[in-house]
Amino acid sequence: MRGGGRPRAAPPAGDACYSLDIEGRAVPLRVRRNGRARRLVLRIDAAADGAVVTLPPGVPVEDGLDMARQRAAWIAGRLAALPARRPFADGSRVPFLGVEHPVRHRSGCRGTAWLEDGEIHVAGGAEHLARRLTDWLKGEARRRIAPKVADKAARLGQTAGRIALRDTRSRWGSCSANGNLSFCWRLVMAPETVLDYVVAHEVAHLAERGHSPRFWRAVAGLTNDAEGARAWLRDNGDGLHRYG
Ligand SMILES: [Zn+2]
Repeated sequence: MRGGGRPRAAPPAGDACYSLDIEGRAVPLRVRRNGRARRLVLRIDAAADGAVVTLPPGVPVEDGLDMARQRAAWIAGRLAALPARRPFADGSRVPFLGVEHPVRHRSGCRGTAWLEDGEIHVAGGAEHLARRLTDWLKGEARRRIAPKVADKAARLGQTAGRIALRDTRSRWGSCSANGNLSFCWRLVMAPETVLDYVVAHEVAHLAERGHSPRFWRAVAGLTNDAEGARAWLRDNGDGLHRYG
């Protein structure tokens, strides 16, 4: 730990950022408070090549830092096992609904991005390619998620509020108390069954707040392979944060 445990950068959304020294390498460590967390949780932050500690109410920051120090070897192992970063660029390959698609830069073309013969074409200047492709994926995510939300909510006799697409790192989706739903746009890179499961999960929260047996029965009624999708996210979810 460096700097006497002082935050080293402007923390995003109330998180405090530290640096963990692992074998001479500075690994970013984010510490966040969660009023609903019941225990200290340490996990990998694949997007940042770092780690995140979640503190429940009343637990001092130092306890979280201690936990990260004690599990430094685990953190190093998990970070080393992450897939390589895959920047969005001409010629790179991007999964779309679980299928890898080559990316083609079409500088002379108008428009933003489109699918053509199994490739994702992105128009405009090369310096805007990554943003254009991100915007396109976000739009495709919304286009697929919105009707699923409407359909599944109707099956439960519920109405969902607004739908937001974000680049969330810690969760794939969330459901607020007033019924607004939020999803990570990166889910559009996962197989369709995984996207379907995450929508089913959040829509089921419209009817059941917690993760009770009744909640899981509702999820099972809304999607075909919840178990398979959860296993896929466990095994491959971190990899989705390595794109772009
Ligand atoms: Zn949940």
